[in-house]
Amino acid sequence: MNSAVLEERQDQVHRIGEGEFAMACNRDSLAGAVSQRACVFCGSRVVLYPIADALHLVHGPIGCAVYTWDIRGALSSGPELHRMSFSTDLQEKDVIFGGEKKLAAALSELIDRHSPKAAFVYSTCIVGLIGDDVESVCRKMSAEKGIPVIPVQSEGFKGNKREGYAAACKAMMRLVGTGDISGISPLSLNILGDFNLAGEIWIIRGYLERMGIQTVANVTGDGRVNDICRAHGAALNVVQCSGSTMDLALMMKEQFGTPFIRASYLGIEDMAESLYAIAEFFKDQDPGIVARTQDVVRDELSRLMPELGQYRKDLEGKRAAIYVGGAFKAFSLIKAFRHLGMKVVLVGSQTGTQEDYEELASIADPGTVIVDDSNPLELSAFIKEQGVDIFVGGVKERPIAYKLGVGFCDHNHERKRALEGFEGMLNFAQEVHSTVMSPVWRFTPRWGKNVAQGSGPREE
Ligand code: SF4
Repeated sequence: MNSAVLEERQDQVHRIGEGEFAMACNRDSLAGAVSQRACVFCGSRVVLYPIADALHLVHGPIGCAVYTWDIRGALSSGPELHRMSFSTDLQEKDVIFGGEKKLAAALSELIDRHSPKAAFVYSTCIVGLIGDDVESVCRKMSAEKGIPVIPVQSEGFKGNKREGYAAACKAMMRLVGTGDISGISPLSLNILGDFNLAGEIWIIRGYLERMGIQTVANVTGDGRVNDICRAHGAALNVVQCSGSTMDLALMMKEQFGTPFIRASYLGIEDMAESLYAIAEFFKDQDPGIVARTQDVVRDELSRLMPELGQYRKDLEGKRAAIYVGGAFKAFSLIKAFRHLGMKVVLVGSQTGTQEDYEELASIADPGTVIVDDSNPLELSAFIKEQGVDIFVGGVKERPIAYKLGVGFCDHNHERKRALEGFEGMLNFAQEVHSTVMSPVWRFTPRWGKNVAQGSGPREE
């Protein structure tokens, strides 16, 4: 095992081909390991903030709210209240005497000023410590203002980012089932786990429309409170980012009997398979849907495939590393890189489950390193060891790549270019090509040393 991996984390790293597959995961980050994970509050904010007509109020010190949504890529086709960052800005006096009055005053003022369809109140660490009764303040404000005011129990210390996802799903579940479901087509679904980064949900909704399917609620990219309230009227939940929204799908199945399927809109096979799986679900009600879906896929591929070939010529044999929030994305990325003639040699996630990692291990090539809840030291060491040409990650992985003189593709919430759908695959190929083939690497010492450009493991 690589010496950068701390003793206590050895069971969260596995190299394909070395012994039987076994990975520890879904546990709290090791103190001192400097995890790439964000806190519980951040997990719930990631899921809920794209609901564009809701008020999002962070109950806590101003620092918790400092990383505003505006730098992220979740677009709205209408209201943009989600881009505003509101905080109760708790100070020393509030910590001593309690922050409930300040919370009520902030909610009252903000609801009057912005007329949101609902308000989400995020509890941060200090609120959990001082014991503010956020639930009761929200209940009173909801009665006074006539809109749902929903507490999100997301105190940062109470677990890892996955707890934040669960808190967000619980908060949304308070809305589901409260709206009027008349007029919803029997051929209808909710899109769960897509955040409309760079307008991606509009691409997916476009395919669904061509197939004859109505989308009831986007959960949560370009999301609307009223749509989520009537989401129980849809015939199917299609869950993409399962880490963040599978809890909601499970709760809806239990409470309303809504079935769900898993999907991925990244890469060619997974995008096509997701559309075919949706068509399969509805084919008894509408036998023509299968042919319409085939038409959509055929049309899109006839445009995409000739263009991909030109990028593959240069990228053949290059090596990629992937480190993402939820593992679902990694499956699709491995397949997408294969279409470009590239090999994934390092793959990991912040919040993967046992089932996710088993699936990853089943599709990864021999020698590929799989990591759970990794940190910059480990990632840097494996990037060097595996001779990586491009690192795919988010805002926290970008500096690791550039410091090592390696290309980078942003696949996280900050991305400004759509990477989902068939047209997203073309954008992905262009991004990968432009960073891997950039002439800048000729002038940048790779991995801190002046080694020649190329692929494959190198001597230190
Ligand atoms: S860990 Fe606590 S204090 Fe830090 S950002 Fe998260 S909620 Fe705020």
